[in-house]
Amino acid sequence: MKKLYLLAGLSLLASPLLAQRTLIHCGNLFDGVRNDLQREMTVVVEGNKITAVQKGFTSPMGQDKVLDMKSKTVLPGLIDMHVHLETETRRGGLVDRFTQNVPDVAFQAAKYAKTTLLAGFTTVRDLGGSGINVALRNAVNRGMVDGPRILTVGKSIATTGGHADPTNGYRKDLMGDPGPEEGVINGPDEARKAVRQRYKDGSDLIKITATGGVLSNAKDGSGPQFSDEELKAIIETAKDYGFAVAAHAHGAEGIKRAVRAGVQTIEHGTYMDDEAIELFKKHGTYYVPTIIAGKTVADSARMFGYYPALVTPKALAVGPKIQATFGKAYKAGVKIAFGTDAGVYIHGYNAKEFEYMVEAGMPPLEALKSALMTNAKLLGMDTQIGSVEAGKFADIIAVDENPIQNIKTLQAVRFVMKDGKVYKQ
Ligand SMILES: [Zn+2]
Repeated sequence: MKKLYLLAGLSLLASPLLAQRTLIHCGNLFDGVRNDLQREMTVVVEGNKITAVQKGFTSPMGQDKVLDMKSKTVLPGLIDMHVHLETETRRGGLVDRFTQNVPDVAFQAAKYAKTTLLAGFTTVRDLGGSGINVALRNAVNRGMVDGPRILTVGKSIATTGGHADPTNGYRKDLMGDPGPEEGVINGPDEARKAVRQRYKDGSDLIKITATGGVLSNAKDGSGPQFSDEELKAIIETAKDYGFAVAAHAHGAEGIKRAVRAGVQTIEHGTYMDDEAIELFKKHGTYYVPTIIAGKTVADSARMFGYYPALVTPKALAVGPKIQATFGKAYKAGVKIAFGTDAGVYIHGYNAKEFEYMVEAGMPPLEALKSALMTNAKLLGMDTQIGSVEAGKFADIIAVDENPIQNIKTLQAVRFVMKDGKVYKQ
């Protein structure tokens, strides 16, 4: 009896030392820091963290578990700076806002979150929904729903009738007059209130719709929709709460106002001109292109009845231009962050964006890095995610081929680990 107690006591004492480790044996490792692949490496995972990256295939000891990725290329989990997890494009989808209840949106959002994670995107920035995205983030963090790490804006901020005014195109008696609480502002005071409301709602950052947009049921797709005073009030207030500001913008004037005001990223950027390009460089603003969204809306608009009558011509005009804008901006030296506008196309195809970036002239290595440390830094999480290094969260994926030689391999992710937990193998 005495001996048994002693053994039990010993194993309790010893357990922290012999905590189960997961050893990922990587045929190739792209760690997100170096520019080349390392052959035959082991990534050591304990709990939700990477604790070591070692040369060769480390032999397991005690309780260690081995994940054999010897035929794969292992890399950090990907990061998408622009998704909408609450919704997904479909023919006639505009009617959903009149027929869906909050739980309907919540259940579909949970599905889209899982789809995104299984596509290898372990962190995303949700740039706008009804606010259910805040609850989704919390549910993922609590382990109730399988999904990527989410940083969310909650509801985007627009001006009356602007892109992201939730009542655009409604019948007059349904339209009402939404205010800052619903993310619609007019004037600096309301702008401040809308930012503070996002803080109260639990948002992680701010999104504004600096110009008209394609999918809102309104005529204008590119004109500026905020005054300089409103932009200034938003940026100043956002700073008070530690919020970065992302700006949706298509037209050149709206892009320039937002860049001058000090937003962190411009989303889409379709009609940026040479002056806008210089302003990006001067202010260090990042461009999030969302090429795949542009191509998808243009394709969908060619299908009769897919979008409302006001949306179709905007989709045909704006959509096809983004890839060329991206190519021009990249070559001119504008800093690029990876983002796709998922939900505007079918969730899970996020990695197609890499192919379009490479097509437009960005080398595969740079395209890949834009979705790793670049995005991690913009999210203020570069000590936690974006690379496979000791001390970071164990967000790790694997693909069949070397993505620097064949970027399309990222469209078929074979293995996904987030926070040390395996979701796809
Ligand atoms: Zn968007």
